[in-house]
Amino acid sequence: MKALDELTFDNRFARLGDAFSTHVLPEPIANPRLVVASPAAMALLDLDPAVAETPVFAELFGGHKLWAEAEPRAMVYSGHQFGSYNPQLGDGRGLLLGEVYNEAGEHWDLHLKGAGQTPYSRMGDGRAVLRSSIREFLASEALNALNIPTTRALCVIGSDTPVWREKQERAAMVLRLSPSHVRFGHFEYFYYTKRPEQQKELGEHVLAMHFPECLEQPEPYLAMFREIVERNAELIAKWQAYGFCHGVMNTDNMSILGITFDFGPFAFLDDFDANFICNHSDDQGRYSFSNQVPIGQWNLSALAQALTPFISVEALRETLGLYLPLYQAHYLDLMRRRLGLTTAEDDDQKLLERLLQLMQNSGVDYTLFFRRLGDESPELAVARLRDDFVDIKGFDAWGELYVARVSREGSLDQEQRRVRMHAVNPLYILRNYLAQKAIDAAESGDYAEVRRLHTVLSNPFVEQAGMESYAERPPEWGKHLEISCSS
Ligand code: AMP
Ligand code: MG
Repeated sequence: MKALDELTFDNRFARLGDAFSTHVLPEPIANPRLVVASPAAMALLDLDPAVAETPVFAELFGGHKLWAEAEPRAMVYSGHQFGSYNPQLGDGRGLLLGEVYNEAGEHWDLHLKGAGQTPYSRMGDGRAVLRSSIREFLASEALNALNIPTTRALCVIGSDTPVWREKQERAAMVLRLSPSHVRFGHFEYFYYTKRPEQQKELGEHVLAMHFPECLEQPEPYLAMFREIVERNAELIAKWQAYGFCHGVMNTDNMSILGITFDFGPFAFLDDFDANFICNHSDDQGRYSFSNQVPIGQWNLSALAQALTPFISVEALRETLGLYLPLYQAHYLDLMRRRLGLTTAEDDDQKLLERLLQLMQNSGVDYTLFFRRLGDESPELAVARLRDDFVDIKGFDAWGELYVARVSREGSLDQEQRRVRMHAVNPLYILRNYLAQKAIDAAESGDYAEVRRLHTVLSNPFVEQAGMESYAERPPEWGKHLEISCSS
């Protein structure tokens, strides 16, 4: 266990120089105080969880203090936003404070979001509001607990600093941890500004830091691109399997590591709805739930374009072709597990599609359905779940197919089946209305609910005593909350 002043820094991205990032000091927020911290994320830095309660913690992550070895930098990047190229983005309100190595030798970027204006702020104030900081914190730690690759969140620091969005709110900062903050948009920036040397420097940095095994391949860049395609196919399969809607899949929000990155108006599905659009400003539904799959490929093509100086177009095209089959294989594998199936049959895809269509037509709760399917024997579970469906006949027909499908797997120990299914079917997810309740309390100065919700979501597969209300379907008011894009 380390104290806060014992972190080991080695700021390799900062050393790439001013073509890649700009030195900027954080601008402190007034009366910084701890809203919530993640003990699991603190453990990644070998930090004793008790230090989160010390005043110096809030001062460090509220922009008042800095380690002598930190070198805060705003990174430059660009990217495709809603399909159009934006040539100049960058950290407009976040700073890479420095890179820390833990005792296991793992590398973590410390990124402070809401740290004030930078050369890339454009018209923005450089701030993040409490509401969006809490949402990012909860989502990062909840996705991680669901075994979905993601950036992590160490803490949220609240303040008295006023910021203006649709109304006056308070500024906050969230400390994000990731092995890398390089986005698809970083490669696009150097490609479109026609700076092949710097693009190569960036590529070599990323290869050495994050894809060292690719350096042993005959074509390191191609091997890296292939790895990025594979990771994204798996990541998006996980989003789809667990009902996570990112909401702003612009290429500047896509991590080179294939992990969930940059949380805005994201949502987990309550009722299953393939066409769900969580982003209030996404009029065309470009980033609707089901579109995340083709958009994943679109984004990889944008990255491929930026990598044409390093890789032949044929090789890029061939590698891009791996995405969809890989996605489909991962997705089906995950959904088989969610259905409690341990073998593969040709018709499993059809069985699944039929179920999702029935759920869609009846607005069935996506998370609770799978959890309940494992609670009891297949026969009893479908008999109990049928009441959730409007098309009861349709569901009964599906139930018969399902029971027969499970029985073809051989002898069934229900207790083992329950344990196996509950290990992949969460009871608790970050429903928008749960986040909203916690935010409402936090905005009036009470952080207990944010902390409780974070604790519940840190262990989503295990039923927790006294936490029944977190496993319920949303009330009417909480079903279709519009999440503002402003953050
Ligand atoms: P996002 O939608 O959060 O992914 O942000 C897109 C771009 O806008 C990034 O370059 C951000 O740094 C920038 N940005 C978002 N909000 C602000 C803000 N309040 N002040 C300055 N820049 C911002
Ligand atoms: Mg972003």
